[in-house]
Amino acid sequence: MAKFRAPEPFSGGIFLTYKCTSMCRHCMYACSPKWSEDWIDVKGAEKVLTILSERLRGKYPSRSNTIGVNYGVHFTGGEPFLNFELLLKLTEVAHSLELPSLFVETNCFWCVNDKVVEEKLKRLKSAGLQGILISANPFLVEYVPFERIVRCERIGRKVFGRNVIVYHDLFYSQLKRLGLKGRMSFEDYLEFMMKKCRGEIPLALSFNSVLPMGRAPYKLGYLYRRYPAKVFFSESCRRELTREWHVHIDNYFNYITGYCGGISLGDARELDSLCEGIELDERPVLKALLESLGSLYEFAVEEFGYRELPEGYVSKCHLCVDIRRHIAKQTDRFEELNPREFYKHLE
Ligand code: SF4
Ligand code: SF4
Repeated sequence: MAKFRAPEPFSGGIFLTYKCTSMCRHCMYACSPKWSEDWIDVKGAEKVLTILSERLRGKYPSRSNTIGVNYGVHFTGGEPFLNFELLLKLTEVAHSLELPSLFVETNCFWCVNDKVVEEKLKRLKSAGLQGILISANPFLVEYVPFERIVRCERIGRKVFGRNVIVYHDLFYSQLKRLGLKGRMSFEDYLEFMMKKCRGEIPLALSFNSVLPMGRAPYKLGYLYRRYPAKVFFSESCRRELTREWHVHIDNYFNYITGYCGGISLGDARELDSLCEGIELDERPVLKALLESLGSLYEFAVEEFGYRELPEGYVSKCHLCVDIRRHIAKQTDRFEELNPREFYKHLE
């Protein structure tokens, strides 16, 4: 196979930045306050939003007024509210292009009082935003006081009605039951869970809630069973890399599928050409991933002296990201390993 066709998007998230006020242990995109202060460029964003509006046309009911995690278009990061004026501007652009189910995802760090929250959400709604996704989990409350999350949910419902998603409900209800005020370490959360609702731990920390990719294997891997690399050798990532139902475009315009942080299929401003086909001979890491994890491992051992982790891996994505990080430390010649900074902020 010489060429690989990037999937046509059905829905997507636009990163305003990778910079975040938090450094959550489970972050798939390794966001943190340490990232460069880089923001998506408005002209480029206008271009990708225009492309998305063309590609999504006809795929949604007209005047669709519902939002969903993998539905429509959302603004994300990193933390979009770190640059509220940019978020507002992009919302106006997306609304003028009639992009469906437009919402923003936030960690609520900015929800310091009712007035600020109501004012910002109303301004966004007037600009065309249809809803909000509020993150709630034990990794985030290590950084953001829980009452800010509760405030955002309360006022969000006032402004957006039913178009408020709390992600994820199970964690939110646990943190409420705990009566949490302020922040809490993940270790304290685990202690609470062990005492009060031990039975919920397997579900709460299952790979349905915590995707074992990005930063999670490094920061939470100790909680999970590990396997030798060869257990994952026969798996391929074709399904994830060709998944059209939800893509991301970051602030460097990397076209990212499968929630696979640090893997770029190319420049989203040139989506037509990506969908026509990407030359795989120029992207050996991507080529290997489409074949099998075993091919990637072999390539990394032979070309870059990769050594298997003696403690093993929690998932195929753990093996994948560890190999990619090893390669990215040695060379910047692979365009598919972007953005480069992702590999610096995993731990
Ligand atoms: S999971 Fe969200 S809030 Fe946490 S570091 Fe990543 S982008 Fe920031
Ligand atoms: S193994 Fe790598 S390419 Fe495959 S789904 Fe996981 S992160 Fe993506």
